[in-house]
Amino acid sequence: MKLHEYQSKAIFHRYGVPIPKGRTTTMASEAKHFAEELGGKVVIKAQVLVGGRGKAGGIRLAKTPKEAEELATTILGMEIKGLPVRKILVDEAVSFEKEIYLGITNDRGARRPVMMASAAGGVDIEEVARVSPEKIIKIHIDPLLGLREYQARDLAVSIDLPRPLWRSFAEVAYGLWKAYTENDATLAEINPLVITSDKKLLALDGKMVVDDNALFRHPDLVEMRDLDAEDWAEIEARKFGLSYISLDGEIGCMVNGAGLAMATMDIIKLCGGEPANFLDIGGGAGAEKVAAALRIILSDPKVKAVLFNIFGGITRCDEVARGILTALAEVKPNIPMVVRLVGTNAEEGRRLLAEAKMITAETLLEAAQKAVAVVKGEAK
Ligand code: GDP
Ligand code: MN
Repeated sequence: MKLHEYQSKAIFHRYGVPIPKGRTTTMASEAKHFAEELGGKVVIKAQVLVGGRGKAGGIRLAKTPKEAEELATTILGMEIKGLPVRKILVDEAVSFEKEIYLGITNDRGARRPVMMASAAGGVDIEEVARVSPEKIIKIHIDPLLGLREYQARDLAVSIDLPRPLWRSFAEVAYGLWKAYTENDATLAEINPLVITSDKKLLALDGKMVVDDNALFRHPDLVEMRDLDAEDWAEIEARKFGLSYISLDGEIGCMVNGAGLAMATMDIIKLCGGEPANFLDIGGGAGAEKVAAALRIILSDPKVKAVLFNIFGGITRCDEVARGILTALAEVKPNIPMVVRLVGTNAEEGRRLLAEAKMITAETLLEAAQKAVAVVKGEAK
């Protein structure tokens, strides 16, 4: 679950990270009042759950309360990367000398969290990571010991932070680590962490992603969930207990079992195609769940064909077939569908689907080949 900037910063602040004074609103007129309260000069910031808001025009500096209202009106009318801006953060404007990057995420390869810092923070950090990765300094954190003071110092030195700021940098780094670990986050990031004109550290931006599997022990975080700002497909998938991850390819996949779903994606690639998603409908999925899964897959405009790969163990193939028929009757897709059904009640399932003009396959390889072929055929 992604948290908004204002939520992430509020959490970081609880762990001792300094942040600018600010307030959120959904109304431009209120932005004007807040600007008056905050001393006139403010930054109006779109609260949407995507990065690169600055470059998209979603972060604007207002020199007067009147300008704050105008910019708030503009930003509240914007869409950033397809997401409508419903809320803005009005932060006191801060003048700064330098932008630093500081973040923590899980390094699966190293099997531990990694803290990253860079003197080249700000809106171009992705570019820095691509072009000059050596400018991003990494240290791994032992999850049992936590972030050690010397590690924070090492980072401060490595990014050439002026010595008088080492202590407060260590406090910010430790606060970020505590926020990360105590909230079961998979990402906690401050970009930029600035050195202000009066030589203090301040977190101007914040981003946090919390592990969905740990939300049961963070009711306070669950409260923060902003369904308005989330992807429809992800909300729908969660509602029906489906594991769904959207990808960049053209072949939609509906599979039961995570391992089988991954194998299916691999074989699609082996056959020269690209999967549009990972979707595990789970064991014992009934017709309703299958229908929901198909609606989700078909809501993605990139999908040019759907591959069903169902191994009926606990799941009964005839149930799945009924689910597919229900969904087809509802959404009436005009793209090819390839089905491979094996296992419990497969015969019955195939008989039901034969009437729905679906392409059937005996093996997974054959199914993948057929799906890739129809997609390529369409592209010509
Ligand atoms: P992002 O583009 O979504 O990462 O949004 P950020 O909150 O990081 O804002 C983008 C950029 O706007 C930052 O890197 C800063 O350069 C600038 N910015 C953000 N807040 C302030 C502020 O209070 N004062 C000034 N002068 N610039 C700011
Ligand atoms: Mn940022």
